[in-house]
Amino acid sequence: MKITAGIDVGSTATKAVIFDGSILGWSVIPTGWNPKEAGTRVFNEAMERAGITWEQVDKIIGTGYGRISLPFIDKKVTEITCHARGAKFLFPETRTVIDIGGQDSKVIAVDDDGAVADFVMNDKCAAGTGRFLQVMTGVLDITLEELGKLAAKEEPVPINAMCTVFAESEIIGLLAQGVSKEAIASGIIDTIAKKLLSLTARVPCISEITFSGGVASNPEICRILSRGLRVRFNVPNEPQVVGALGAAIIGQEIGGSNHTRRVLNETRDT
Ligand code: ADP
Repeated sequence: MKITAGIDVGSTATKAVIFDGSILGWSVIPTGWNPKEAGTRVFNEAMERAGITWEQVDKIIGTGYGRISLPFIDKKVTEITCHARGAKFLFPETRTVIDIGGQDSKVIAVDDDGAVADFVMNDKCAAGTGRFLQVMTGVLDITLEELGKLAAKEEPVPINAMCTVFAESEIIGLLAQGVSKEAIASGIIDTIAKKLLSLTARVPCISEITFSGGVASNPEICRILSRGLRVRFNVPNEPQVVGALGAAIIGQEIGGSNHTRRVLNETRDT
């Protein structure tokens, strides 16, 4: 198989996967303010980890909201398609993908071939996304990893505000009342899980479900979601790179001349 690359320039994190039938290397970095630079850097890091050079990569596929900023890619594909393909590759029985990223969450219905049959997306509100967790861990002055660990220790305190901004004020109030960080952490995870479960109600969640996106790195959220959904639930080892993986897989299927090599040659000639 040829070597292909998928680069997923997300709102929060930029991911790359180098693929030749299996994953040769991958990398995740913050997107920051310059998506083009992040895309180039993450690609170089993934190639370094894979032990290959740019010349060896046959096709590069871009996905994610920042894919338009990458001048050196051969094709752009939506992240919905890429998450579906990546999840299907990792778990061939996948029929539903739940993807929770930095600024949106999606439920994607997948057909037998890994094509998108239907999807719903929340990109109007930060609640139910990684941004919600980032704001709340900021208030508690803890890391995302600590959030899950603390949450496992106590029952959730109810957080009633559905909006991220009001939930932030509510948490500040709870801290002032002396409610423990553990109970608040547990409440935060409970809130995001409920929000996600309400999204899953809009597309029939058929087994098997595969969870992708950065938020799936949180075992506590995965545990609550799998309990709420009551169907077989897969969590990849690296859920954040599923979209980049799907992009690299799509790269295996396209023919034609190599755009990357053209761009490199043009750069060298001038
Ligand atoms: P995007 O493609 O929109 O940039 P990603 O799928 O890369 O989103 O996910 C980024 C989000 O993942 C961040 O908002 C962050 O909150 C979340 N995230 C990363 N690691 C963890 C973790 N261990 N627990 C909870 N959330 C996490």
